[in-house]
Amino acid sequence: MQSSTVKTYQLLIDGAWVDSASGETFPDINPANTDDIVGHFQHATLEQTRQAIAAAAAAQPAWAGAGPSRRADVLYRAAQIIDDRVKELAVLLTREEGKTLAESTGEVKRAAANFRFYAAQAHLVGGQTLPADEGSTFLYTLRQPLGVVSVITPWNFPMTIPARKIAPALAAGNTVVFKPASLTPLLGIKLAEILAEAGAPSGVINVVTGRAGVVGNELVENRAISAVTFTGSYGVGDAIQHRAATTCRTQLEMGGKNPIIVLEDADLDLAVACTIQGAFGLTGQACTGTSRAIVVRDLADAYTEKLIAAAAKLKIGNGLDEGVKIGPVADLSQQETILDYIEIGRQEGAELVFGGRKLSGDAFDRGYFIEPAIFRNVNPLMRIAQEEIFGPVLAIIEVGDFDEAVAVANGIEYGLSASICTRDLNRAQRFAQLIEAGMVKVNQPTTGVSVNAPFGGVKKSSTDTFREQGSAAMDFFTRVKTVSIRY
Ligand code: NAP
Repeated sequence: MQSSTVKTYQLLIDGAWVDSASGETFPDINPANTDDIVGHFQHATLEQTRQAIAAAAAAQPAWAGAGPSRRADVLYRAAQIIDDRVKELAVLLTREEGKTLAESTGEVKRAAANFRFYAAQAHLVGGQTLPADEGSTFLYTLRQPLGVVSVITPWNFPMTIPARKIAPALAAGNTVVFKPASLTPLLGIKLAEILAEAGAPSGVINVVTGRAGVVGNELVENRAISAVTFTGSYGVGDAIQHRAATTCRTQLEMGGKNPIIVLEDADLDLAVACTIQGAFGLTGQACTGTSRAIVVRDLADAYTEKLIAAAAKLKIGNGLDEGVKIGPVADLSQQETILDYIEIGRQEGAELVFGGRKLSGDAFDRGYFIEPAIFRNVNPLMRIAQEEIFGPVLAIIEVGDFDEAVAVANGIEYGLSASICTRDLNRAQRFAQLIEAGMVKVNQPTTGVSVNAPFGGVKKSSTDTFREQGSAAMDFFTRVKTVSIRY
């Protein structure tokens, strides 16, 4: 229901905040309390999306020519504004996405850290000097911005994922047209407001909310786009890869089905803590979330017992409430998908040893709450062990030894993150070599990585071309040109 107290947010095109030309808006609804409408957002039209792309193209030469110090100033100021508003932004993030306030606070701070990191990177875009075969020749490479970059992001990290794409894009001298996920557009709009306040010139950052089939398609197919950086599901990413022009560079970060391997010499309490955080933190809605625990048979009983005891202590509820560790899932469709998978697991013959119920009564009726689910006796080929569920559902798979554990871990189509719990440095190193994943963890949860480290996956998890995050991200947002000068 549209209430007069609910704010309506606009599109940012060429420095101006405007309504949709069609007059159509859509609501952003709190998944913990569907009576709480977080805001109304514009359905940008095709024409407005084209205007945003044209504005970005027009602004790009001046932004690239402004020099690294000027670009860095804007990014540093954006970081400072985010830091000054952490509390306010974290509350909004919890209201729109559902994660706990502690998780939202971490995400907002991480967004600021991204802006700070890439502000410094603006000064470090450099080429190489090379020895030339010809005499009296100076041979070197230049790194230049690509032009207009489309940024398309998912709902589960509405602030960090846009930040880790937009900040390096701008640092390198590109301009951006950004489409946040329709489920969580508010933090994307806030980011654009912050960048405008930080001094980003008109057209440097444009935000178009709205239908994927209108806005999203144009951001992929418009020939003025030089690059698409996308994070989301494999299906959408795969389609983008096929629709983008050959002259358009793509960076696609997609799904995961991440394992944690627990060997017989593991610190059991640590293994359980890592599993709980990876599987049920962020309500299991993380691309790097743990969805498979691959455990050596001798340890499986003790591990499962401790895991259930730890899961039973996790308070489920509205992420704004004190002590809550698991917020709601993102919306009704997510809830239905997750409950469907729990039913599929049962029908496949796996044993549901904990949770898995839709929660109802009192505060739960107005939101999308599910108990975390733990399955045992899972065969590695079952659908719950193969397909991305993107919710708090863990499949425990028992194996005989290290070699079998690695074979099971690799026996899927995804390859984003993988962890092993062991005290054996030798097997930890072999794991790092053998595992088919972009992110490798030892005695740590599958989730989480430092802001300065490259991030990405292999197989269906990523295009496996350009990494996100860290200084590696600058490779995607710049193009190498070779220059040969006879003197
Ligand atoms: P999604 O449905 O693929 O959507 C992602 C973004 O793409 C949204 O902004 C969406 O817009 C847009 N989109 C949808 N169809 C499009 C089209 N035809 N052309 C252009 N854009 C289009 O993913 P999601 O449900 O938001 O996010 C969950 C998925 O993201 C999971 O698979 C998860 O593993 C993955 N993820 C991966 C990473 C990683 O780094 N590897 C990180 C986080 C999440 P609308 O919102 O308007 O539909």
